[in-house]
Amino acid sequence: MADATIDRIRLFLVESPIKMARLQGVGNVKGSVKRVLVELTASDGVVGWGEAAPWEVFTGTAEAAFAAIDVYLRPHILGKPVKRIRALMLALDRVLVGHPEAKVAVETAMLDIVGRSAGLSVADLLGGRVRDTIPLSFSIADPDFAADLERMRDMVPAGNVIYKVKTGVKPHREDVAHLEAMRTAFGDTIDLRIDYNQALKPFGAISILRDVAQFAPTFIEQPVPRGNLDAMASFVAALDTPILADESCFDSRDLLEIIRLKAADAISIKLMKTGSLLKAQDVMALADTAGLPGYGGTLWEGGIGLAAGTHLIAATPGISLGCEFYMPHHVLTEDVLEERIPNRNGHVVVPDGPGLGIRVSEQSVRANARILAEA
Ligand SMILES: [Mg+2]
Repeated sequence: MADATIDRIRLFLVESPIKMARLQGVGNVKGSVKRVLVELTASDGVVGWGEAAPWEVFTGTAEAAFAAIDVYLRPHILGKPVKRIRALMLALDRVLVGHPEAKVAVETAMLDIVGRSAGLSVADLLGGRVRDTIPLSFSIADPDFAADLERMRDMVPAGNVIYKVKTGVKPHREDVAHLEAMRTAFGDTIDLRIDYNQALKPFGAISILRDVAQFAPTFIEQPVPRGNLDAMASFVAALDTPILADESCFDSRDLLEIIRLKAADAISIKLMKTGSLLKAQDVMALADTAGLPGYGGTLWEGGIGLAAGTHLIAATPGISLGCEFYMPHHVLTEDVLEERIPNRNGHVVVPDGPGLGIRVSEQSVRANARILAEA
């Protein structure tokens, strides 16, 4: 690996079928999700994979991520040393503004290559594991709440006890009824969280939040639009229930402002927001200093993107509120891996093995996803 350079880039823009509709307030998902899979090959033949999984109402589009890498980043990646990851990421930030999903896909593939070459996992490269498993949260977001409740009747006994309820899409009284039904059915055996995905207006929000706080959620996520930090700060001051910032916190600059205004008690870390595993650790260093725990969020990543997130959380102590990496097991009808990252007793098991610890199946890519573009 000593002087290996990046010799080849292959890109797939894929559309993957999903099992259930997802009602998420700002944008609903039904039928399929689009992602970009990136394969880098080093001059010594070692291959690494990464994934860009944007969501158009949140970070950007898969088509834009594809073009970002294919047209704008490709000339700056080819020929560069695989080990100089930070240097390349700085260069990519200079030549292209934004597009965090495209950039994290490239960084992930480089970490995968370096890890495979060295016999180290991506978590090892990020400082080594502080945990071997990560508590898994499932999102209650099916338009048919009865279907979600049925799922819970199977999942809770199997050890899946964390549920994040997507609220603010249906009328408030329905949200309250659903929370009540969940507490009635499962009592304190479940860890409930609530996510408004920015659905509420600051005006009148506090009485709604006091209503849902009665169900003892571990946190309430992003009740109001991302720019309404003053309103977020007023909720932090008024409620005992912690407020978690997701859309309000993409990067360290956002987090500095949140800390300054006391606008959250916790943050959601998503690789598609930070655009980098290394920068995600920078964000958490700041959050640790301010005493804010992190939660491992996702957009619509499949197995490659979630492998990257799993290694990040394994090696980042402050991301202590679990993760929502449930897509490959519960939502995607097929993933592109030979074997999915295992779930055990309601936890994601951090993969062993070098790099991301996964094997991508090109056959599965071609058989189970619709390839919309390839380059
Ligand atoms: Mg969220």
